[in-house]
Amino acid sequence: MPPAADEGPPYELYAIRYAHRDVSVRGEHFYGHDPGCQDPCPIDYYVWAAVSESDVVVVDAGFTEETAERRGDRHYLRSPVETLAALGVDAGRVGHLVLSHLHYDHTGHMADFPAARIVVQRAELAFWTGPHAHRGKHPHLANPDDVAFLVRENFAGRVTQPDGDHEVLPGVGVHHVGGHTPGLQVVRVRTAAGHAVVASDASHFYANIEGDRPYGIVTCLPAMYDAFDRVRALADSAELIVAGHDPLVLDRYPAVPGLEGYAVRVA
Ligand SMILES: [Zn+2]
Repeated sequence: MPPAADEGPPYELYAIRYAHRDVSVRGEHFYGHDPGCQDPCPIDYYVWAAVSESDVVVVDAGFTEETAERRGDRHYLRSPVETLAALGVDAGRVGHLVLSHLHYDHTGHMADFPAARIVVQRAELAFWTGPHAHRGKHPHLANPDDVAFLVRENFAGRVTQPDGDHEVLPGVGVHHVGGHTPGLQVVRVRTAAGHAVVASDASHFYANIEGDRPYGIVTCLPAMYDAFDRVRALADSAELIVAGHDPLVLDRYPAVPGLEGYAVRVA
């Protein structure tokens, strides 16, 4: 059943920038690109918030300052929870926390949302609790403490695990795309400007989806191409597609007054 995303009041959608990494280079970010390419390719880290008169859905939980220090190279601006508060959103009262996927930079602040129902695709949780999580680069890409946190919360009945498309609330739906991770999901939000899509890591940079160029971390390449098509089909216009890690997000959307460099309003 397709999500009934057209009912209910529209949401305001915000992208919240909480960290930045200057030293990254192009060769590490684009699939099939010369791995030795040293062209600079700065990357930003975001969470997103969809806010209506009655509800807040937060998409992703960032990483913590401790994680930034442990991993090095990452410039932590400030906790996304603080910026949410500046937007009038009390993390402790947020009703839904959607996790696009379980890479470490999307799961760090889950404990700051104690009232939230957590929404993660079944395939994603299965992957990170399954036989492949320890192989290759995967252990570096997720935080086992965060995965353990989710397992505990699942035992407490607080985790919704859709297997595909799912309506979180009228006007907010998740859509399984995979590609970058097995259970990657994107989030479609009904705004006053039309349906926007938080692509998260389905398109780290606009150059991925706009240039049909997959990102460098891939679990299924055909699914990654299909994800580009799905995101385009779900969004009412190209302007309403929000890339997951692109510094251009700050240029493409207006800053929230007083939160320049920290938050933009997508629609
Ligand atoms: Zn990722």
